[in-house]
Amino acid sequence: MKTSTAVLDGLDVLMAHLVVGGGVEGASTREVFYEEAAYNRASELLRTTEDSGQRGRFELRLRLALHLSPRAAIVYDRRNVTPRWRLIHAHLVDGFGYPTESSESLARSIARTLDNWDEKREGVTAHKNLLLRRDGNRCRNCLAILEDKANITVVAKDPFKPYYLAPDELLRAEVDHMEAVSTFGTNDRSNLQLLCRLCNSGKGDGLGLSVRQEAEFAGCEIEGASISYRSSLVYWVIERDGRKCGLCDLADRELTIRPVVNGGGLVRSNMRTTCVVCAGLKPSTASEA
Ligand SMILES: [Zn+2]
Ligand SMILES: [Zn+2]
Repeated sequence: MKTSTAVLDGLDVLMAHLVVGGGVEGASTREVFYEEAAYNRASELLRTTEDSGQRGRFELRLRLALHLSPRAAIVYDRRNVTPRWRLIHAHLVDGFGYPTESSESLARSIARTLDNWDEKREGVTAHKNLLLRRDGNRCRNCLAILEDKANITVVAKDPFKPYYLAPDELLRAEVDHMEAVSTFGTNDRSNLQLLCRLCNSGKGDGLGLSVRQEAEFAGCEIEGASISYRSSLVYWVIERDGRKCGLCDLADRELTIRPVVNGGGLVRSNMRTTCVVCAGLKPSTASEA
């Protein structure tokens, strides 16, 4: 192993500090535990293949960058006359009490990391029109026609797919990485698909619903559950059921979900996928008004 005399940029210095640690004075057992965990994680990353090592490194850098940046730098507006790194620099000095001079290079490398991340994301958005042409304009998960308020679930105000609460927002076509978002680097079109915003936000980080979330809303009426919980149920139930209706077995109509046992808990195990026809959705009559 060669002793590295390579110039490390600010983030590398910080990572080195976090990982190797500077012998925190009077470190609690918890701190020691975290330091050990960080060290193990780092050696794990170093042992993996070049490609996944790069990926892990990028994740770590992104996490650090997000942790050390002010919000204005994270959602940076390119028309802003103040460069991104300057916003970060001010935050490091004022917010974290870092020394003014030595934190400039750190601020610049954080800004570079955020720039890279933006490029990756914008790169994905640019695929949207091509994907619309390749896949048609339906959500790959729930088969709703994207950006079309005439979907029966909107018209009939399906409470299990709460598009009607914010149709412009929730029916927007979004580009999704089929392989988890955290596995960066695969903006290859074969790894991209279009989902409606409801499904995409329901998919979240791709790791599923935690029992904690389920327990929080299990006893709710569907109308009382948050949009975010309802979107998670929609995504994960339809995904689990192979993206087809469990009653008629068809996979060409928009899908929604319904309880298996009425009156049962609002949890995945008590939900099944059904097409809008089997769910009995009908346009609501205008006579209520
Ligand atoms: Zn969808
Ligand atoms: Zn059906």
